[in-house]
This record gives sequence, C-alpha cells and structure tokens, in this order.
Amino acid sequence: MSESYDVIVNGASIAGCTAAVLYARQGARVALLERRSDMSAYKVLCTHYIQACGHATLAELGVTRELEDAGAVPNSARYWTRWGWIRPEDDPHERSLPFGYNVRRQTLDPILRRLALDTDGVDLLLGHTLDRVLAEGGRVVGVSTTSGGARRDLRGRLVVGADGKDSTVGRLVGATAKRVDNQRFSYFAHFKGLPRPKGDVTLSWFREPDVGYAMPNDGDITLVACIPSKSSLPRFREDLEGSFRAFVKSLPGAPDLDRGELVGKIVGTVNYPLISRRPTGPGWALIGDAALTSDPLWGVGCGWALQSAQWLVDETSAAVRAAGDLDRSLAAYRGRRSKLKGYQFLISDFASGRPFNPVEKLMFSAAARDPGMARHFHTFGSRLIGTGSFLSPSSLTKATLVNLRHRLRPATAVPAGGV
Ligand SMILES: Cc1cc2nc3c(=O)[nH]c(=O)nc-3n(C[C@H](O)[C@H](O)[C@H](O)COP(=O)(O)OP(=O)(O)OC[C@H]3O[C@@H](n4cnc5c(N)ncnc54)[C@H](O)[C@@H]3O)c2cc1C
Repeated sequence: MSESYDVIVNGASIAGCTAAVLYARQGARVALLERRSDMSAYKVLCTHYIQACGHATLAELGVTRELEDAGAVPNSARYWTRWGWIRPEDDPHERSLPFGYNVRRQTLDPILRRLALDTDGVDLLLGHTLDRVLAEGGRVVGVSTTSGGARRDLRGRLVVGADGKDSTVGRLVGATAKRVDNQRFSYFAHFKGLPRPKGDVTLSWFREPDVGYAMPNDGDITLVACIPSKSSLPRFREDLEGSFRAFVKSLPGAPDLDRGELVGKIVGTVNYPLISRRPTGPGWALIGDAALTSDPLWGVGCGWALQSAQWLVDETSAAVRAAGDLDRSLAAYRGRRSKLKGYQFLISDFASGRPFNPVEKLMFSAAARDPGMARHFHTFGSRLIGTGSFLSPSSLTKATLVNLRHRLRPATAVPAGGV
C-alpha cells in the first residue's frame, strides 16, 4: 500500500520547509521527508548571510519577527577594495536599503522546521531517507523511503527535490547537471564577544583573488571567513589556526580575533564545485541547492533557496491540486528561474580564482567613490536587480564618469582608511 499526497518534498531545510509550508497554505497535502531525525538539526557548512532577496519570502512565511526576537541581525555591508571601502548607505531622499538577516543556521533551521511541523496539511516525516523514485509511463509518480529499516512508498502528483547540493532526487531522475570547478577554498569560524563595527555591519574584503568576511550574528557571535585562492591551500593547511588568524590580521580594519573566544572548530570546504541542474521534468522539480549550488563566496544560496521554493509554489500550487496543467506550470517555474542565469554566469567566471576583470574594476572602483554607485552595487549583490540592470549602458556610463571625475579631482577621493 502507498500513501497519497499532492506534493512530496524531499529535504526539510530552507528550501524544503518553505515549499511545504507555502503549498499547504494553498490547500495542498504535502509529505515533507528528511533523512535526519532531529528537529533541531541544522546545516553546519554555512556562513549565515541571508541576502535581502530572501526577505520577502521570510516575511511571507511570517518568521521575521521570530528571527529578530532570536537575535537575527538585519544585515548591511561594507566592502573593502583596493580603491577604498564601498559604503552603501540609505539615500536620505529614497527608501531605506533593503536587508536580509545574519542568523546562524542553528537558529534558523529549527524555526523553519517547527513552522512546517505546525502547518496543517504538512506531514513532516523525519528520519526518512528517500532512495528511489517511482515512475510510470516516463513520469515520476512517487518515491520510496527507508526509515529505521522499514520501507515506505508515497505517491504524489509532484516530487520536489529540496535535498541540497548532492540532490538524491536530481540523481534518481537523471537531471542533467553542469559543474564548474571552484578555484578558491574556504575556512570559517565562530567567535564570541568580538568588538562589533558600528551598526553591526558585515565587513567584506576583496583582496583579489582572496576574499574575507566578518559577519555579526545572533548570540553575540561573529562569523569570520577566509576564502583564499587554491594555490595557497597546502601552505594554509600546514597550520590551520595560525594561517586563519594571520589571514584575518592582514585584512584592513578586521576585528582583532584575540579579543574574542573561538567557539567550536575552524571548518570549511576545500573542493566546492558550482552545480546547476535541469530544474524540472515530468512529475518532478528541484529547488534550492538541488537546482543550483553556487559559490559560497557570494552568500546567495539561502536567499535563492527561499525564492526558488516560493516561485515553484506560485507557479504550481493550483496544478498539484489537480486544478491545472502541471507540465505547463513547471515550465513557468523554469522561466522564473532563468533570471538566476546571469548571476551564475558572473559567479562561475569569478570562481576561477582570478582577480577582477576590467568591468569589475570599473564597477567596484566607482562604487567605492560614489554613494549612488555604492547603493547600486549593494542592490546587485543583494540579488534584487539582475545583471542587465547592474551593467546597463547608463550604469556603465555613470561608473565611467565617476571614475573620470575622480581622476580629475583626486582631492575628493574617498580615503582607503577605516571602515
Ligand atoms: C562553506 C559554505 C558557506 C555558505 N555560506 C552561505 C551564506 O553565507 N549565505 C547563503 O545564502 N548561503 C551560503 N551557503 C549556501 C547555503 O548553505 C545553501 O545554499 C543552502 O543551505 C541551501 O538550502 P537547501 O534547503 O536548498 O539545501 P540544504 O540546506 O543543503 O538542505 C538539504 C536537506 O535535504 C536533506 N536530504 C538530502 N538528501 C536526502 C535524502 N536522500 N532523503 C531525505 N533527506 C535528504 C538533508 O538532510 C538536508 O536537510 C554556504 C555554503 C557553504 C558550503
């Protein structure tokens, strides 16, 4: 005997919980499978910066208040470049800069999972590992899972892979995948009690090619990350903690790590390819990292996990309740995702471990020298405007003019000094 649902979602992390909750609120019956059995499980490999592009979905889920009560830090950022700091500020004549949150996954993930558990219409099945998909006539019609040695079959009109970078659903349905090598590695650690910059801003350093971050989070924790080029990996690993501390010390304006307490271990990834998979097929769809695993350097995965879950539900919630054409709805979801292609193209190119190319030099330098360009840069980094707007002819012209003016009047240059 197999149980029947409208949708089966595999993976109860950011993308999966979001999709399950939003589907159920539209009246769908949802099975949400998760191989881990602990309600408070969370993703360890993450640096917790949720871009502003994910804010609307968090608000739709109704969790922003709970996150803020739990200490989530509304995020803003400063970016160090060889031309000085980029300091995006609110424009006094326009609306405030958009923001997301810095919130540790150990705080965020259980909040989302509890929301899914408490949502009518969601059956959260913890400790269930999906290892087969059921297909009929070339269409996915369900899944098979194991839990504590027992096998359980579930049928549904749509099977959603929200199962992360190594997506089991993606593999079982044979979703075509494109991989791009990442020529940087990353190590990060949590420090308690570090002095925080004014406004709790996130600090980023673009050292070309190396990158660093210091991000204030909930619980008086600052997440500090080093993302150097792979050529330095063997030397870096010889003395991991010593290299980590020396790297951070070399960053202008970085917090003094000796003034905080290292909590837990320094962890990271030394081989983290970027993977994009075909996101839909007959009876199946992928969301979050399962569809697109990007470079951690840009902190986009959580925001895109939230957004892609919402796009899928927006496009298919009627069809999964047998009220519409599912294949056409899935094609519409694929269309919504296409806006990520431009970002991913630029991100993949930068993952080669290179320093800035001429266009990046133009945009980063202009952003360091002009408040309007700084806001434009930050809005793009928050993934709220696409590559077409970021690099539009008028933006490129403005950046060129800013730099020309700077050259003619060097006395007006923004100093490269403090944050
Ligand atoms: C070092 C590092 C730093 C990062 N920093 C950031 C950052 O600062 N900001 C940001 O936005 N993103 C960051 N990311 C990316 C971010 O962590 C991911 O994009 C995000 O977690 C994706 O969410 P998801 O729900 O798609 O997948 P995941 O969070 O990977 O969840 C997948 C879920 O599926 C479950 N699962 C998998 N297989 C099965 C199966 N067969 N059966 C049942 N369950 C299964 C897993 O247990 C898990 O719960 C970082 C990534 C790395 C590696």
